[in-house]
Amino acid sequence: MSDQALDLQHVYGNTYCINFRRRGEQPVTVGVYKLSEKEIVLLDTGFSWTGEEIMRYMEAEGLSIAAIIHSHLHIDHVSGDAVIFSASKNRPVLYGPTRAVPEFRRHYTNEFVKSDADPFNNRDLRDYLDSLDILEQEMHSTDGGASVTVGGKEFTLFDTVGHSQDHQSAITPDGVLYLGDSVMYGSVLQYARAPYCYNMLKDIETKRELAKMSFLACIAAHEGWFTGDMLPEVIERNLDISRRILNKVADLEESEPGKDVIEDTLRLIDSIGLSKYRNTSWIVDTINEYFNYYYSNHTRKLPGD
Ligand SMILES: [Zn+2]
Repeated sequence: MSDQALDLQHVYGNTYCINFRRRGEQPVTVGVYKLSEKEIVLLDTGFSWTGEEIMRYMEAEGLSIAAIIHSHLHIDHVSGDAVIFSASKNRPVLYGPTRAVPEFRRHYTNEFVKSDADPFNNRDLRDYLDSLDILEQEMHSTDGGASVTVGGKEFTLFDTVGHSQDHQSAITPDGVLYLGDSVMYGSVLQYARAPYCYNMLKDIETKRELAKMSFLACIAAHEGWFTGDMLPEVIERNLDISRRILNKVADLEESEPGKDVIEDTLRLIDSIGLSKYRNTSWIVDTINEYFNYYYSNHTRKLPGD
């Protein structure tokens, strides 16, 4: 497997990852497991444009996709499915958390959160909704965790909820962990002021659980891979971002105590320099989680600190 145009990296054994970078786009990494000379399993598919690049590569190399395993159903993880399905002769078998499909569709077609899709173009949104249709019809449920056998090789999926509802991570037959978005790595760690979380308590709990586990290597969906021994340290850096947000929440509450949660949330979003996103539900929901935690616990400490 080699290709100049594609940043395909060997991780361990038959596990690889492809890093996608495009100007003005969020970096994406998908996991690849090589079943044979001709067949692979994909871990997530990214956006429409990454789906296209994957298909171009598959065709050039004469490869086919036996299965796609999904970590969660966000727009930047499943939108490549529609492209892959329309371009593949043999449709890949799909695995992932199915329970939340209707909720994700409602979320992205809701007028209030339409602004979430603004950074993405109409094409992305259309392919995303098409992909959700495919997932709803064809995806085999791994809700609650499952082991999935493809071409005689076993992948283990387990819940890593927090970043999104029904988030899962997958261990490849080589013992490599595809994190999805349960732990952030790379430039996201450097630049993200408030990585999305759907449920802050679960998010922290999941990270602490992962820190106790050991893997040969880990692949993060944004971006790249690292050796398994780095996982506790990478998680600590993730937790530092959460500590920073919680401290800002506490500072704000101590200097100008409680107006109401929405008003406080918006003030905090402005104070961390994310004003341009104040109309998007992802940042409002994320910061809201921290306020709710602070309101009920009055502490600057994360759970477990
Ligand atoms: Zn993501």
